[in-house]
Amino acid sequence: QVKSQGRNSLCFFDPQMQIAINQRVQLEHDLQMAITGNQFELHYQPQQRLDGRIVGVEGLIRWRHPERGLVTPGAFISVAEESELIVPIGHWVLRTACEQLAAWKGDPRCQQVQVSVNVSARQFRQHDFVARVVEVLRETGAPAHLLKLELTESLVLDDVDDTIAKMDQLKTKGVRFSVDDFGTGYSSLAYLTRLPLDQLKIDQSFVHNLGVKHTDDVIVQTIIGMARNLELDVIAEGVETAEQRDTLARYGCHYFQGYLLGRPMPLSEIEALLGNDLALLG
Ligand code: C2E
Ligand code: MG
Ligand code: MG
Ligand code: MG
Repeated sequence: QVKSQGRNSLCFFDPQMQIAINQRVQLEHDLQMAITGNQFELHYQPQQRLDGRIVGVEGLIRWRHPERGLVTPGAFISVAEESELIVPIGHWVLRTACEQLAAWKGDPRCQQVQVSVNVSARQFRQHDFVARVVEVLRETGAPAHLLKLELTESLVLDDVDDTIAKMDQLKTKGVRFSVDDFGTGYSSLAYLTRLPLDQLKIDQSFVHNLGVKHTDDVIVQTIIGMARNLELDVIAEGVETAEQRDTLARYGCHYFQGYLLGRPMPLSEIEALLGNDLALLG
């Protein structure tokens, strides 16, 4: 009796809920401050080809919080997505990545390196998304063919016609596209063939259990087969062990990202790593 009353009544006076609401309001407020106060940083995680060369980096946002230190996106991206704040934050990420691509143009260590950035649904669905990307490319002078936008399956599927229209416009500028966390959504060959994609990115949850959970080996092999048939690159994320990398390579995946090669790191460190790479591989 008491229990069902608790479940079914509106709990305006539930102190737990009030605390959660307060925290959320505070977080949104702090995020707003972070945008105006320039508290975000873009870190870079290397992406390696089978031959060992670092061919790309993924830009991953971090928040240099005045009290909490370095905060990873898991703690704030979903709140930013639910509010409109992801739009200015996503735009900052895009601009920062493009400024970096432009700065690397004359640098032999970095000038071939692709930069991937994550794009949220709310950001992508803005009516002026394409115009803003084009504007950022023009203003920064970044080579468009080195910019790769990571979209999730659910984003792509949510409104396929709008997705294709926007992708097509950006493809004409040279921008590339990857489907992030691939395999976790409702992918079907039918829609995949309609999209002007360049890459599928195998979700780390499948990589994690390679050689341990047979069904995940099957899923990974299936994704690699799909990518090959569609003539797309395929990259695996969350590669932590040499064994996982070797298994992926055996299955036909030729690009890797994960702690095995390097964690997301600040600019100076990724530049040093790219410098080593050049020295080692020539
Ligand atoms: P994601 O795009 O799938 O990025 C991969 C996440 O896996 C990153 O977490 C990365 O640090 C982590 N990771 C990479 N290699 C390994 C590994 O070997 N093992 C394990 N256990 N983890 C690995 P991070 O940086 O915390 O980002 C989490 C998610 O937040 C991202 O997932 C992405 O969805 C989102 N995110 C990050 N930056 C941005 C951004 O600028 N904009 C938007 N909209 N979302 C972002
Ligand atoms: Mg990503
Ligand atoms: Mg991912
Ligand atoms: Mg992921």
